[in-house]
Amino acid sequence: MQRIDTKFFGARCFGGSSARTSRLTLRLVRRKASAVPVFPQNFYARWRAQRNLAPALREHESAPPESLLQAVWRHQRLLRQQLTTLDGRNVQILHPGFLSREGGPDFRGAVIQFDDDPPRTGDVEVDLESNGWRAHGHNKNINFNNVILHVIWKGSAASSKNSPPALAISGKLDAPLAELNQWLNSDESEALPETLRGQCSAPLATFSAEKLRELLLQAAQIRFHSKAALFQARARHVGWEQTLWEGIFRALGYKNNVWPMQCLAERRDRWFAPRSSPLSLQARLLGVAGLLPSELTRAQSSADGYLRTVWDYWWRERGEFSDCALPRALWRFHGQRPANHPQRRIALAAHWLAANTLPAKLEHWCAKKFSDGAASVALLETLQIAPDEFWSWHWTIHSPRLKKAQPLLGAARVTDLAVNVILPWLWIRAFEGKNAELQREIENRFNHWPTAEDNSVLRLARQRLLGNAGRRALRTAAEQQGLIQIVRDFCDHSNAVCENCRFPELVNDLWAANKVIKIE
Ligand code: SF4
Repeated sequence: MQRIDTKFFGARCFGGSSARTSRLTLRLVRRKASAVPVFPQNFYARWRAQRNLAPALREHESAPPESLLQAVWRHQRLLRQQLTTLDGRNVQILHPGFLSREGGPDFRGAVIQFDDDPPRTGDVEVDLESNGWRAHGHNKNINFNNVILHVIWKGSAASSKNSPPALAISGKLDAPLAELNQWLNSDESEALPETLRGQCSAPLATFSAEKLRELLLQAAQIRFHSKAALFQARARHVGWEQTLWEGIFRALGYKNNVWPMQCLAERRDRWFAPRSSPLSLQARLLGVAGLLPSELTRAQSSADGYLRTVWDYWWRERGEFSDCALPRALWRFHGQRPANHPQRRIALAAHWLAANTLPAKLEHWCAKKFSDGAASVALLETLQIAPDEFWSWHWTIHSPRLKKAQPLLGAARVTDLAVNVILPWLWIRAFEGKNAELQREIENRFNHWPTAEDNSVLRLARQRLLGNAGRRALRTAAEQQGLIQIVRDFCDHSNAVCENCRFPELVNDLWAANKVIKIE
């Protein structure tokens, strides 16, 4: 668990207790307990209230919804000077952390001080009751090991034994429940509070859209080149084609299964056989990956389905691959969208491998000239596979047949592959071949590639760095990559209160010197 430099919190950042609260506390507006609604209502608001569109909530009800507690915590709608844990310790919330929708604790990276102890950085879990810690299995889940505070509605010290310090917030809200509930249903509660924005947000706001784009593209270039350098280093040992497959498999692993996919690709010389059919390769790959059941049930054995077919392939050859088969425990399925299930991604890769033409097709795509926007469409066509009798209709081996066929590959996945694998791989090969013109062409495609899917890193970065800008503020995948690079370079080495971050200094220097170099 990371500890924070107390000197920093004590003096430089907060300058004593009054400054501490003024920087991190939402402005306290004193209201009468019954003052609902707070603001004069316009026609829309009146109509909405009369039709009960916002769920009604009354003081006497036993507990508010957990989503309301999360919003209260996120915006610190609390009597912040009166907080104590159930075991009697004084609690100062120096930063509530960032809401996480990734599974695991509700808030990451909170900074909290208990009594006069040094402030601590860790996670915060929000539950209705203190026994939720055990009832929800958090005590056995390693993702919750870094929780330093359990925020609950009501509870007793006895029921929170053997769990992190618990803070009950019933009776500590800064407004009546019904008023907070109205507020939860407004846009205001969705935005990151101004007090929690990054220190770079103000200087970045002085940049024009064009200057911001140039800065992001410069950061993106670093990310692009470092990916290319990784391919270059790996290719020295295993060659260009193997490097490409490893990159593709990693990208198909998304963030949860990058490593098992990498391990699978590294064993390619063991399991790959030219002129295999997609089905036999799927069977072998799923078997080597450890994603087939070790035995079939009687019902599965007698069925005439996909599982039975791939199992028959794998049954005959599994002894031959026992030395390179991966354990099933390596894979993570939690929080995975069905479309991204590793079985489905492996099935897709098996099609490319069976065709055995992918590297040549990518080189051909690279050599062709495209007008604006056509390169991404052409890459989707290049990577597209024929419909798969089973996988076009199922998310996983065990899932029921879908009503409508779903493509194994869509534009979003192609963008991920292009930005993270294909373009850097082609670029470094052009570099090695001293083909400067081709390098420029590939960089140009990268800089203009359409945006990738939004994700939690980008969402938080837009809130903290770009003043709650919407997803359309980033117009290309390269701009998204640039923002991620800034997060990796700066946010990841700082904390929720931007301690010791030098990015604002970089932005100010850049602004003062007006040195943003135009990128073609
Ligand atoms: S840590 Fe640095 S880059 Fe990240 S939000 Fe704070 S000031 Fe900005």
